Amino acid sequence: MTNLLLKNIEKRFGKTEVIRGVDLVIEHGEFVVFVGPSGCGKSTLLRMISGLEDISGGELYIGNRLMNEIQAAKRGVAMVFQSYALYPHLSVRDNMGFGLKVRKVSEEERIRRVAAAAATLKLEALLDRFPRELSGGQRQRVAIGRAIVGNPAVFLFDEPLSNLDAELRVHMRSEIAALHKRLSTTMIYVTHDQIEAMTLADKIVVLRDGRIEQVGSPRELYENPANQFVAQFIGSPR
Ligand code: ADP
Ligand code: MG
Repeated sequence: MTNLLLKNIEKRFGKTEVIRGVDLVIEHGEFVVFVGPSGCGKSTLLRMISGLEDISGGELYIGNRLMNEIQAAKRGVAMVFQSYALYPHLSVRDNMGFGLKVRKVSEEERIRRVAAAAATLKLEALLDRFPRELSGGQRQRVAIGRAIVGNPAVFLFDEPLSNLDAELRVHMRSEIAALHKRLSTTMIYVTHDQIEAMTLADKIVVLRDGRIEQVGSPRELYENPANQFVAQFIGSPR
């Protein structure tokens, strides 16, 4: 069943065309990875899906609903950023519960959902700490926890691991894979790390200069890259 549908999506900043007609179908529960060189439009595309950036042209559907004019908070989408974007003055518990509070979810329900997310992410012992008292990996876990508590239909990750050291990156990568397995929610994940893309993705979308160069499973792209650009990006020998 289709979860997201992008039809000829475009983005312009003034006269600069940044996304130039993107068509894409994403099925329920799929793990989709966007790759492509810096500046090709990966973050812009995610921000348009999340509602943080408006759409200049085309149509975006999530679960059969046209989203173009729907505000971010009502899209059922949660985004996790590279920079974590935690509130420094709030505890882990309050960071995770903040969005629910804004949406007027009852305190009882909030406590329940934060506890469940904390258990999923092994954050129980850290709930009373503040962001400055956490390691990079723990902060990123809190950022993921904050996304989970809203029960989003779609998770968006923008290079969530690129501030972590290599060892922790590998660890968090498998945690994200486990999370996807557990929640079976649609996830869209931006990375410039080939190995991350190849190991996490059901489907990889290769972007170049605001357009899709190729879409396919890691294996399809590896075995049958459409061109030299894709081959190089995927690390295919061809
Ligand atoms: P990526 O995430 O793939 O590195 P981005 O989506 O951040 O790329 O950026 C795509 C292009 O859009 C870049 O050329 C960038 O300079 C431009 N861009 C992004 N945000 C803005 C903005 N708010 N105003 C003008 N140009 C922008
Ligand atoms: Mg980016």
